[in-house]
Amino acid sequence: MTTTQNDPLRDLIRSTLDFYARFDWQPVTDDAIRVFEEEVREVTEAARAGTDKNHIAEEAADVIVTVIGVCQATGVDPEKLIDQLYAVIAKNNAKTHETHVYTDGKIRRRFPKTTTP
Ligand SMILES: [Mg+2]
Repeated sequence: MTTTQNDPLRDLIRSTLDFYARFDWQPVTDDAIRVFEEEVREVTEAARAGTDKNHIAEEAADVIVTVIGVCQATGVDPEKLIDQLYAVIAKNNAKTHETHVYTDGKIRRRFPKTTTP
């Protein structure tokens, strides 16, 4: 595997998939979801404890890695996942105080999404 400079998202996904391949492991959906849920529980517990920031970061990274496993198990093209990550970045970067507002513990759209008939 070659790594791409300044593209940590792509590097993480490739590294994770290489890791699976090295162990000749193709994640299956139920196992991948179980592992992901375990990691979500671990980061949740670490965050609620709130005392060890390094541990929270470690568990958060585990969540990200294991969700890559969920995508792999369900046949999501890694490039599609990367595209979606960059789409989220672009959407977040486009949000402003004019378009969004913080309310009820979440940043929400000021106006409902318009739907086309
Ligand atoms: Mg963990």
